[in-house]
Amino acid sequence: MTQTVLITGAASGMGLSMTKRFLSAGQNVVMADFDASKGQSIAAKFQTEFPNQQVDFYQVDVSSPTAVDQLAKQVLAKYAHIDTLINCAGIFAKGALHELTLETWNKVLAVDVTAIFLMTKAFINTMIAQKSGVIINIASISGLYGDYNMAAYSAAKGAVTNLVRSMALDYGKYNIRVNNIVPGPTNTPLFQQNPPEVIAKFNQASPLNKIVEPADVANMAYFLASEQAQAITGQNIQVTAGFGIHSGQPQ
Ligand code: NAD
Repeated sequence: MTQTVLITGAASGMGLSMTKRFLSAGQNVVMADFDASKGQSIAAKFQTEFPNQQVDFYQVDVSSPTAVDQLAKQVLAKYAHIDTLINCAGIFAKGALHELTLETWNKVLAVDVTAIFLMTKAFINTMIAQKSGVIINIASISGLYGDYNMAAYSAAKGAVTNLVRSMALDYGKYNIRVNNIVPGPTNTPLFQQNPPEVIAKFNQASPLNKIVEPADVANMAYFLASEQAQAITGQNIQVTAGFGIHSGQPQ
């Protein structure tokens, strides 16, 4: 049977690149994103490019319990099974803790952490019944280390960093593997908003003198979803181009 992957945040950046990666490998892709106009047009384009597979787009706010329940009902009515769930949708808010409103704090936590709770709850019983499944969360290097002006984002991604271990422990007995991909700065539309001099500094902070491309994350996701990764679960796997490995000692 053709494998089916559900990807949140699929209309942009890494989610979009993962959509293309899994379609190129012959899988069906369920794209879920808040951005309906972008998502629908991308899904239509991919459906033309990959006529032998299913590409569906669903407009959803992954932080809304009712929207996620609705998504699960529609997706499971059509596909009945889900092989891989990728929780990629995420948002960022700039600011030290005291500069953030409670509303902003709650919003970042809702989209970056609670959405993983909601999406997993909505699809885990299907995976348990299948006795197989793969869940991949997109965390961040900002959840492993401290970062300036990223209090809410670091807290949210830090939670994801440890959540993966609980998920892997609880679902391993059902043959469900759960891993995080931990990207460093990645060349997505979000990142491209930085001025060129800032982008140059990011490049210089990598021993490879480059930042991560969305396709690098997509290749890791494809590997983690595959049988090749059948012994890998509960891990935070960095895809960073070496960003963040330096102890800080001068050269
Ligand atoms: P992006 O902004 O290009 O794409 C994110 C997508 O998520 C967008 O299409 C957006 O519409 C969607 N989205 C946002 N809120 C949503 C919601 N409530 N419901 C449904 N969809 C929603 O971002 P990206 O750079 O591709 O980031 C993808 C993931 O990678 C995020 O979790 C982000 O935190 C993480 N990340 C990004 C970087 C980076 O440098 N770009 C680094 C580390 C981790």
